Amino acid sequence: KYDVKIPNCLGRFGYGDNTINITNWFPVCCVYDEKGWDLNSYMALGDPFYSDISNFTVNILIPSKYDIACTGSIIEEKKNENKKLCKLQGKKVRDFAIILSDKFKINKSVYGHTSITTYSLNKDLAVESNKVARESIKIFSELFGEYPYDTYSVVASDFFVGGMEYPTLVMIDKNLYSENSKFLLEYVIAHETAHQWWYSVVGNDEISEPWLDEALTEYSTVLYFENKYGEEMKDKLIKTMEVQSENYKGADIFRSSTEFKNSTEYSLNVYTKGAVVFNEIRKKVGDKIFFETLQEYYNSYMFQNVNGIQFTDIWKNKGVNIDEIVSQCD
Ligand SMILES: [Zn+2]
Repeated sequence: KYDVKIPNCLGRFGYGDNTINITNWFPVCCVYDEKGWDLNSYMALGDPFYSDISNFTVNILIPSKYDIACTGSIIEEKKNENKKLCKLQGKKVRDFAIILSDKFKINKSVYGHTSITTYSLNKDLAVESNKVARESIKIFSELFGEYPYDTYSVVASDFFVGGMEYPTLVMIDKNLYSENSKFLLEYVIAHETAHQWWYSVVGNDEISEPWLDEALTEYSTVLYFENKYGEEMKDKLIKTMEVQSENYKGADIFRSSTEFKNSTEYSLNVYTKGAVVFNEIRKKVGDKIFFETLQEYYNSYMFQNVNGIQFTDIWKNKGVNIDEIVSQCD
């Protein structure tokens, strides 16, 4: 039992003028893996999380003016004149996030069995953001394997750094919802949606091996643009990434987030160089083996945690030596 005061800050856990971000808000049990109990604690760089899959039922009592965006869905709601008690449920998820606001504009669409809800804070790009969310779920379902949940929520938030992924819910910096940053908004929504495959369904230790989800997610973002806008768009994005990361060694993508000096060095290595490495793997093995292997990886490790050795072993079985490809990316 504990009391906690939600701070006034634009972080994962905090509130601003528009939203109350209640994420990473409860103690979680350490993961017990092949190295024993994982005792890494919170750090500022990257997404310092590592957790197992679980089922969550959450009761929340809030002023009734707030709409709730959450992992999973609201399964029960009782209201009196100024408060409401809601029961929220998320099944087979590795975390549980809640964002509240009395200013949400809500757009809905459906893809297969999944209802896609986007929460915006102004009219700009509200419809577009729902289209991008739906398109991302569709493209990644077709490329990697079906999105397994019934809900997906993209939530404009008082959040200071791009976007952040949680199971079935991602938060997006509200300032990206403007004509001027339309491309960036699409990029961030596609990236955070790709995390539903790499982090949410197939999990990993994001401190020791951040490349496992981030490099693959960043390359998946490129795949989204390739599928939506064509091969030229992919070539353009990869060219930019090659230039941005040319001074970094391929092998450095494997470093833990504790080994990077700052967030620029971290993201240019793990995300940018990482995406370049995945593009090289694809060039080496060809599209057929590349996508079959990712589908196999997704299906084999669904709702589990993986480590880098398991990942490279899957490729080894296809005759691909990832270390060799990585060393050629220096
Ligand atoms: Zn990411």
